[in-house]
Amino acid sequence: MTDPAERTEDRTERPARRAAGRPAQRAAERPVERTVIENCAVATVDVRGTEHADGHVVVAGNVIEYVGEGRAPDGLENVVRRVDGRGHLVTPGLVNTHHHFYQWLTRGLAQNANLFDWLVALYPVWARIDEDMVGAAARASLGMMVRGGVTTAMDHHYVFPRGSGDLLGAEIGAARELGVRFNPTRGSMDLGESDGGLPPDFAVESTDDALAATEEAVDAHHDPSFGSMLRIGVAPCSPFSVTTELLRRAGELARRKGVRLHTHGSETVEEEKFCHERFGMGPTDYLDSVGWLGDDVWMAHCVHMNDSDIDAFARTRTGVAHCPSSNARLAAGIARVPDMLAAGIPVGLGVDGTASNESGELHTELRNALLVARLGPHKERALTARDSLRLGTYGGAQVLGRERETGSLEPGKLADLVLWRLDGIGHSSIADPVAALVLGAPAPVALSLIDGRTVVEDGRLVTADEDSIAREARKEAGRLARIAAHEG
Ligand SMILES: [Zn+2]
Repeated sequence: MTDPAERTEDRTERPARRAAGRPAQRAAERPVERTVIENCAVATVDVRGTEHADGHVVVAGNVIEYVGEGRAPDGLENVVRRVDGRGHLVTPGLVNTHHHFYQWLTRGLAQNANLFDWLVALYPVWARIDEDMVGAAARASLGMMVRGGVTTAMDHHYVFPRGSGDLLGAEIGAARELGVRFNPTRGSMDLGESDGGLPPDFAVESTDDALAATEEAVDAHHDPSFGSMLRIGVAPCSPFSVTTELLRRAGELARRKGVRLHTHGSETVEEEKFCHERFGMGPTDYLDSVGWLGDDVWMAHCVHMNDSDIDAFARTRTGVAHCPSSNARLAAGIARVPDMLAAGIPVGLGVDGTASNESGELHTELRNALLVARLGPHKERALTARDSLRLGTYGGAQVLGRERETGSLEPGKLADLVLWRLDGIGHSSIADPVAALVLGAPAPVALSLIDGRTVVEDGRLVTADEDSIAREARKEAGRLARIAAHEG
């Protein structure tokens, strides 16, 4: 039975939360449609980590209406779907905080390289991308993540060859088609090899062009409203591919527009050496010196952080996108995630580009985050399965500045949720459903809702055709390889 105290709390809490956000149902519209999921384990990932062994979630329109133990409340009107979740676990949808979609077309290359060697090998290929290629790569990247439980995606796109078309528009179109909540960033590089940067000169833009295009992207696409499906961020690529001037002016632009800032930081020892040689300080101090620490900033990787870097991130509430598989693939190192969490830094998980994490899945990062952290100094106490689930959900929402909208299952929040099947051969004998999800084999997604809309059913995408996405990605990857070989 549903706990009456909990139901009362839900009812009293809801109107206040609704008032702060978008109403599930506007006046004079047809009655809101409800979906009921019950008889399943529920991991809410709320602030107390509330879980229900046998509970329910009720979705009304695009928001969560009830969450609790036992069956859903009686007397609900206009229930259009009732899901028997026996043998399943429902969690908030996963939030990806770092990616480079275009890399889908260059997976499996430079397999045994560190970051700088890998970048130098791939820049000449990436410099040949065009709008059709980026569209195909975005559909595949998003499709792969969504079928694995991602409900909020981000992308960091920073390669804009002259005359290559509307690359950001191609990604936005793909996200809209698949129905994913999307926080893309307009990236940039303006520090070519001849000025002491890592990328070849032909792969970079001028500082003014990059800033003008970034401002245009924000003006054209950014939607700041509650429940927005599209928010733009500003994201110069990294300290070794961007000028100090671009970083400083990008920060000013983002703050003038009220959007978030993102970049790579402290990824490798080579980057640290670069910053010390060029700027006379480490990456965190350098980024701080150009106004790049703050609660509107998140950085990818943050592997090589000393205690004072961690203090600076904690003090300023700067977020971290932790990418355990990519860090391992490029031998970057083990990020100090337990220390970051202990200091109060918001930390989410990231797939990173699929040229350095060929799987392209986020749910496997829950497992890898835990395993990699336990190889560090905190050993078996480094992260729990629940810590991992929090990184992949609420932590990601915090890092993207969306924790009031998504990242936990609570009345009034957006209906972004995943029902994981745990009664199959891979998971049925694992006693704890959260351990089954995090430590077990990648769990099949029985149902995924984004903004209340079904995007995955029985492990298959319902908003797009997976086979045609796969065919298109293969075709565009082949075309890119041929052009790069011919013109390279
Ligand atoms: Zn990256």
